[in-house]
Amino acid sequence: MSQEWLIVGGGIHGVHLAARLIAEAGVPRDRVTIADPAEKLLSRWHSCTDVTGMRFLRSPAVHHLDLHHASLKHFADEKRMRKSDSFTEPYGRPALHLFNQHSAHLIDSLGLDTIHRQDRVVSCKPHRSGVLVKLAEEGWVETQNVLLAIGTSEQPSWPSWALRGHNRVHHVFEPGFQGWPTGEKERVAVVGGGISAVQIALRLAGEGHSVRLVTRHEFRVHQFDSDPGWLGPRVRIDFDKQRQTSRRREIITEARHRGSIPPDVSAALRHALREEKIIWDQQSIEELIPDDELLGVRFADGRVIGADRVLLATGFAARRPGGRMINELIRYADLPCAECGYPIIDKALRWHKNIRVTGPLADLEIGPISRNIAGARAAGDRIVSTVKQKSWRKSISSALTSGAGLFRSESRKSITPVASVD
Ligand SMILES: Cc1cc2nc3c(=O)[nH]c(=O)nc-3n(C[C@H](O)[C@H](O)[C@H](O)COP(=O)(O)OP(=O)(O)OC[C@H]3O[C@@H](n4cnc5c(N)ncnc54)[C@H](O)[C@@H]3O)c2cc1C
Repeated sequence: MSQEWLIVGGGIHGVHLAARLIAEAGVPRDRVTIADPAEKLLSRWHSCTDVTGMRFLRSPAVHHLDLHHASLKHFADEKRMRKSDSFTEPYGRPALHLFNQHSAHLIDSLGLDTIHRQDRVVSCKPHRSGVLVKLAEEGWVETQNVLLAIGTSEQPSWPSWALRGHNRVHHVFEPGFQGWPTGEKERVAVVGGGISAVQIALRLAGEGHSVRLVTRHEFRVHQFDSDPGWLGPRVRIDFDKQRQTSRRREIITEARHRGSIPPDVSAALRHALREEKIIWDQQSIEELIPDDELLGVRFADGRVIGADRVLLATGFAARRPGGRMINELIRYADLPCAECGYPIIDKALRWHKNIRVTGPLADLEIGPISRNIAGARAAGDRIVSTVKQKSWRKSISSALTSGAGLFRSESRKSITPVASVD
């Protein structure tokens, strides 16, 4: 067995975990591979954040992809970035451009681009002491450990009434989204009540379009998308003690402020509403009525409004991500899942002795923060501590048997292609 780690997914989680394995757990870089179908790492992060027009992250500056919590602040100091352009209050949240530059610097300095395989994992099967993985282009390869870092970004949530495929209806988080208005001034209906919907409505209004924001509920104002107490041990006690996965799921659902907006975005929205730059309809949509010229949007109260374009900012589907690849893995290896369909894993985020998870797939261990940057960092803590213990034990036993010094570097080999195992 030659390859130590294959990380499935090169998003926020995959990149952070690769950095932790290499720079903290001491796994040689050429024994880590990140498989992701995009041309570049973090592609989904860039496309989803760019479209919203957001200038600052919702999370504070200690939540970034590097190891040391103060790394992003130091980076901004070194680059002599103006504080007012780089951070915003409250909580000194970083600008998106700063976060992206810092992430690019990390990728560059650890050479993570060189371990990125632009490929999709289509099958994954535990095999002897490792895992056989099928890449769509490359075929079967063998690895010791798999880390599933698959987010939900490939599964935008489409309401049942949305005319999927209609050229005037788009989901802003659909991979390859090309639905931003290109015309002079359009009537755009933005659907969704969370931070992204409001940011998109503000961006469109700023570009001079006539915007209607359609939400099913009142605006829910929360600074963060879950209580920051979840980052520490105090708030987590009941969750960690809870053995019933259905109860854990309930706690997560209650703790997540889904479809919420922070106070600064709320203030910007209120200003735009007062200035009549945005019209707000608190309504359920019943149907879209297509016409040659425009779309009719019929509300539950019977009213119909006209729009040149409907942009959905309705987030991501709640179902377990990974589709067929994960379904088959579960069947093949008989992996445990909770009632909600999500993996039942141990504290080290192991679903199987050679398969670990992060992001949404780690919901039931990491809790409400699992999908965020903080969740990637929490997953890193858990995974790296067990990898470090393992390599410490391995070093001691090999030193005892060979009489060599403790920290010999491991032999460097590349991922091993294997014959078909279909
Ligand atoms: C607009 C927006 C703003 C956000 N702002 C913040 C914020 O300020 N702070 C915060 O903490 N969080 C924020 N989040 C939440 C979260 O941090 C992001 O959604 C983040 O991108 C999630 O990263 P991820 O790695 O889990 O998933 P993804 O970004 O979805 O990356 C997973 C990758 O895996 C790939 N993949 C999937 N299946 C396979 C396969 N079979 N083989 C190979 N590759 C595969 C996908 O193509 C994708 O590239 C934000 C989210 C959005 C949408």
